[in-house]
Amino acid sequence: MAGNMVADHLANLRRTEKDGAILKNVYSVPEKIREIINDHKQQMLQRIKATTTNLAVTSRYSMGILPWLTHSVRPIQSALIRLRSGHNKLNGTISKWDMDTKPNFPHRCTETENASHVLLPCPTYSAAREELKQTLEKLKHPMNVPTLTGINCSIPKHSQQKMAQKLIVFLIKSKLLERI
Ligand SMILES: [Zn+2]
Repeated sequence: MAGNMVADHLANLRRTEKDGAILKNVYSVPEKIREIINDHKQQMLQRIKATTTNLAVTSRYSMGILPWLTHSVRPIQSALIRLRSGHNKLNGTISKWDMDTKPNFPHRCTETENASHVLLPCPTYSAAREELKQTLEKLKHPMNVPTLTGINCSIPKHSQQKMAQKLIVFLIKSKLLERI
């Protein structure tokens, strides 16, 4: 665009001046545009995050495409998505609309049965969870729902895949796959 060319030309003129103080604070037009776009993206992200409790959204710290671990076996894929979103078939969720379902865990636990409870502290699944726990400890990643379900963006892809494998083993061993 002609405007950009003029602005760049003016910016370059200032760069050629011998006064070093001016040089420091001169941003080119593309730099300014990038800054405006980044600000706008951050504002958009904050606005979107404020409207939801979905971990796949609230765990994000930047906009854009995030590689999403998928699985070719449909029940496993469904379970992964349900764990990430919090919209699952566990009693804590169902009890929100079904008065006959109690929110607590069906076996021996008195805690609300949700994704966070069954993945992390529930003693019913501690044996099934052991391998998953050890894998996270070895990789030095925090044991929390975003990390386990592959939506902690700060974790590299190869680690995500290792954890996903162990998570799937846990879901099968614990028979949670059939309930989530
Ligand atoms: Zn429990």
